[in-house]
Amino acid sequence: MRLIAIEEHVRTRSLRPTSETGAGEHTGHVSPMSERIARLDEIGPVRLAEMDAAGIKIQVLSQTASARLDPNREIESAVKANDELAEAISAHPDRFAGFAVLPLADPDASAEELDRTVRVLGFKGALINGMQQGLFLDDPRYWPVFAAAERLSVPIYLHPAEPPASVRNVYYAGLEPSIAQALATSAWGWHVETGLHALRLIVSGIFDRFPTLQLIIGHMGEAIPFMLARTARNMEGAAKLERPLADYFLENFYITTSGMFTVQPLLCLLLVVGADRVIFSVDYPYSSSQEAQEFIESAPISSTDREKIAHLNAERLLGL
Ligand code: ZN
Repeated sequence: MRLIAIEEHVRTRSLRPTSETGAGEHTGHVSPMSERIARLDEIGPVRLAEMDAAGIKIQVLSQTASARLDPNREIESAVKANDELAEAISAHPDRFAGFAVLPLADPDASAEELDRTVRVLGFKGALINGMQQGLFLDDPRYWPVFAAAERLSVPIYLHPAEPPASVRNVYYAGLEPSIAQALATSAWGWHVETGLHALRLIVSGIFDRFPTLQLIIGHMGEAIPFMLARTARNMEGAAKLERPLADYFLENFYITTSGMFTVQPLLCLLLVVGADRVIFSVDYPYSSSQEAQEFIESAPISSTDREKIAHLNAERLLGL
């Protein structure tokens, strides 16, 4: 089966940490994780061999959350990182595509960089790692970024990142450090924060302002599909929106399978949003391409739905 995976990470040259202390991010899914994390820096034979072994035809690449832009010269840093990614993609244009990294401290510059990367470099959208400048993206300062994405007809991938220190200090206090770290990130915290982020975008009216804007979230919908009926019912009357709340999730979001390879959340996702909005992903290198392939090929779903999830929806959304 033809597979396209769209939450697949890299760390291009200028964004690599100067010491290994800055390299840690995801913890605990695959062992040894340090060997997997080293694969972030490689966009060549090692990555292609894993893709080939798992039947993955295309990876859509994005900078990993720990690949931070230089805060003193964020715009130049983003331009350089995007150029590096474009150069790597150009060596294998039939196997890789890209999402831009944006200098979000300057939303107008971010809109310009999104425009440049899409129109000049052929990128398919942008990926944003969590809160920016201590803010969720519903803050009106980020409207230029969403306006640009809508105008260019490209999606924004909203990806988890480390929680703010103030959240960590309250929610994860009093636990043994390795437990607190896992619970604050890949075991729980990343996902509910990203789910909250997506809901904040909906209830703030972003999609009334930019009605054709499309967002992507990973991890089977960051817990929203399980909660959507209750959230929609209990937000009724509170949020002043043009459409029923659930409709925004069904019409303005695509959901990927990144990092989650069990049947129950997939079936929940399909029951809530339907197969036209679900896209296969691995979360390379943090998750195994082979495990992701075995999961999607054996999931108890129709062959029509499987083809949509495996590649058809990504091809339609991203013009691949
Ligand atoms: Zn990821």
